[in-house]
Amino acid sequence: MKVLVVNCGSSSLKYQLIDMTNEEVLAKGLAERIGMDNSRVKHEVTGKEKQVIEKALPDHTVAIETVLGAITDPEIGVIASMDEISAVGHRVVHGGEKFAESVVITDEVIKAIEDCIDLAPLHNPANLMGIAAIQKALPDTPNVAVFDTAFHQTMPPENYLYALPYELYEQYGIRKYGFHGTSHKYVAERAAEMLGKPLEECNIITCHLGNGASICAIKNGQSYDTSMGFTPLDGLVMGTRSGLLDPSITPFLMNNADMTVEEVDTLYNKKSGVLGVSGVSSDFRDIEEAADNGNERARLALDLFVNRVQFYLGGYTALLEEVDAIVFTAGLGENSPRARNRICEGLQCLAIELDEALDTGLRGKEALISKAQKDVKVFVIPTDEELMIARDTVALTK
Ligand code: AMP
Repeated sequence: MKVLVVNCGSSSLKYQLIDMTNEEVLAKGLAERIGMDNSRVKHEVTGKEKQVIEKALPDHTVAIETVLGAITDPEIGVIASMDEISAVGHRVVHGGEKFAESVVITDEVIKAIEDCIDLAPLHNPANLMGIAAIQKALPDTPNVAVFDTAFHQTMPPENYLYALPYELYEQYGIRKYGFHGTSHKYVAERAAEMLGKPLEECNIITCHLGNGASICAIKNGQSYDTSMGFTPLDGLVMGTRSGLLDPSITPFLMNNADMTVEEVDTLYNKKSGVLGVSGVSSDFRDIEEAADNGNERARLALDLFVNRVQFYLGGYTALLEEVDAIVFTAGLGENSPRARNRICEGLQCLAIELDEALDTGLRGKEALISKAQKDVKVFVIPTDEELMIARDTVALTK
């Protein structure tokens, strides 16, 4: 059974074609600059040369048609016809409180995803465009929606509510939803396997540290608390997002810096985080290099980032009472021994201690990196959201 996984942004579309008999990625790629000049599809079939297809992509429908054309092309493709695609799995960012699990897409599901647009105005419309484009191109193929928020629907109210008048939760759905759920779930399942225990018996803290970053406290295999909130702005210091802030900064900036709501929103989402503090870059590689070259603000940005991760690790350890494992994943979490080392330094009080000898040359590999005698195991586990989406798609359409 071959599954196509689609992850649509407002101007981009990532895809993977996975053979689910052995979970092998057959092809993957990215359509970018959809609706703009110089749009193109970067397409890669495992074992063949990478292709760049320069083509006008006025909308997601043309982008999907181009991707399907590439996948089925006799020269650069990997399957003979679209009939070989048994099902399509779509990443959908926001499922609100309606979806605690992945679902087969029906008209009612589309309506429910539309109802969540207010909660994710940038993401859900793009996800819906991807679904519509696939339905047009492959009208007889089943589609599955896999939600970023679904895994966190197990959080108890004392962890997902804000201390605002309760009516705001009832009227507008203002609460913590959490994101990156597919990634947290995937690495937690892998960690349980590596611990040799059923997931339902594991307490794990998963650290998804990439350009967007979040931490999740997983109790008995279920999301118990997470650092992202009503939106993906909350929690950790990120590439360009501020994370946790005093909400009074918003009216202060509007009154004193003459900023509009939109300007403040852009400031928090696009100009803050390690980019805002360092003034150097949103990319952690650039920040680490600048800090090594003596840039004080780059060093400060890394310190702020590390402090905030430690703050959550401490808090979540207290919430969970007992922790079996901590997992590092995503771009920075998977690839930066330095970041992992800095974060774990000083956490001996939580029974966390890295073995530096184990934490080298791990690029793309799963590994245990904590000292053998320590109670809390620390793992590096590369995330694989596409595989998780494909697995749910198979389970729901088989
Ligand atoms: P993601 O959003 O998961 O793709 O992660 C992107 C982030 O991971 C960027 O800020 C990169 O700088 C960071 N990253 C990727 N590789 C490395 C590395 N080898 N060292 C430090 N940071 C890295």
